[in-house]
Amino acid sequence: MNAQPQTRADWQTLAQSQAFETRAYINDDFVASQSGETFETINPATGVRLANIASCDQADAELAVNHARRAFEGGEWSRLAPIERKRTLLCLADLMEANKHELALLDTLDMGKPVSSSLGDMAGAIGCLRHHAETIDKLYGEVAPTGEDALGLVLREPIGVVASIVPWNFPLMMTAWKIAPALAAGNSVILKPSEKSPLSALRLASLVKEAGLPSGVFQVLPGFGHTVGKALALSMDVDCLSFTGSTQVGKQLMQYAGQSNLKKVYLECGGKSPNIVFADCKNLDAVARNAAAAIFRNQGEVCIAGSRLLVENSIREDFIERVLAAAETMQPGDPLDPESFMGAIVDEAQYRRVLDYIRQGVEEGARLRVGGEAIDAESGGLFIPPTVFDSVTQGMTIGREEIFGPVLAVFGFDTEEEAIRLANDTVYGLAAGLWSQDIDRIMRVSRRLQSGQVYVNNWAGGDQTMPFGGVKQSGNGRDKSYHSLEEYSDLKTVWVSLAT
Ligand code: NAD
Repeated sequence: MNAQPQTRADWQTLAQSQAFETRAYINDDFVASQSGETFETINPATGVRLANIASCDQADAELAVNHARRAFEGGEWSRLAPIERKRTLLCLADLMEANKHELALLDTLDMGKPVSSSLGDMAGAIGCLRHHAETIDKLYGEVAPTGEDALGLVLREPIGVVASIVPWNFPLMMTAWKIAPALAAGNSVILKPSEKSPLSALRLASLVKEAGLPSGVFQVLPGFGHTVGKALALSMDVDCLSFTGSTQVGKQLMQYAGQSNLKKVYLECGGKSPNIVFADCKNLDAVARNAAAAIFRNQGEVCIAGSRLLVENSIREDFIERVLAAAETMQPGDPLDPESFMGAIVDEAQYRRVLDYIRQGVEEGARLRVGGEAIDAESGGLFIPPTVFDSVTQGMTIGREEIFGPVLAVFGFDTEEEAIRLANDTVYGLAAGLWSQDIDRIMRVSRRLQSGQVYVNNWAGGDQTMPFGGVKQSGNGRDKSYHSLEEYSDLKTVWVSLAT
């Protein structure tokens, strides 16, 4: 695709002519699943079926793992000089850049996010690949501080076969966060995209082929979690699972690792992130816009969504009014319209789930301030507008559970201590935000928040240089930065005795 789509009409034209790769990518070939089974992928903004995709299962997983192992042992990639791996990955990044509109379109059609947001994801994905490619030939090993009679080397080596299991909310960006460091480090990678968003991963496979990665080094197995995902997780010949998805599935993966070969398991899981607004913060309108975007961006289908808004009671009513005004400007629209802030909910099951949480919020006594009902159902699309509940308490389901939809729960607090207690009163620990002008308070509160990320006077800030991941039941892994490269390599020591 060479055109540079600008308008909704441009994107619609491209969408009409878009072809889809539907087959699995195994050992350099696009193939049907061995069973011949397929599953449908549907555009949630229209209800129209896009394609039937190969549904892989255990047999395909075994085949791909065998090829991945052979490739790893063969050393064509795993023992290649890092500078050569860098060249190939930078070539892949260039190919992604050249095809970014098509890749963005595929994510938008598949899971309903606005195309402008998908384009932002492509920038993130390409930047991530370039970052790890550029890092890998600049890393040194260590010489241990031993006595003169020995030389102690500390080396980093690739792990082997890595299975990356990813979700649907940022399909290609989450993929890049996993595969970029794993490939840069020299591993063979098998990617299992979500069954709700397989299209961009399969298009990526053709770009990987074009970039010239050796056979078996990168493979894509579309299919369901309980079939091909589980088979990879239970495989005796997969050395590492890198996962982004729900806490519930993350727990299962740890069990599978224990039941099989004790493979390494890195998890990036769910969240119920607190966003704390103190009365001393500046420019309440700007803060309110940020607080609304923190939950409504990507239809609220964001692991770090600022889904719990904690507001100091002295400004609470005034602040909520400003949040409602901001939410009014963030209505869902056609995902192919670059002006749309929100798009469609990913599928019928998630749509029902979000509406069910809203019903529970009302039943449990929270005060519904705006939204709460599906809209535009006649379009065939799954649209839920920004929904805001006030007077939420920790005892309410919507105050505790990850909804993964455009639903904001507002809590009030009177003291800093109460804000910290409320913020930390969750099984999750992915992200937290705080808004204040008091530097002492900022440092005090940041240190006490139980969270992998703390955003001060912003939400979701950070770039490739910053590790990303959670604490508590939000997971144990770190994506992005040098720290994620560490996860995809093992430490080896070599002790050389020196003749004296
Ligand atoms: P999910 O856990 O349902 O699925 C994630 C992936 O796991 C999918 O590819 C799925 O097919 C696979 N899977 C499901 N069951 C499996 C099994 N038994 N064995 C192996 N694989 C299995 O999550 P989702 O609905 O795709 O994504 C939403 C979740 O992802 C939310 O909880 C969200 O917070 C989380 N998420 C976290 C981050 C992060 O960085 N922490 C980022 C994005 C999304």
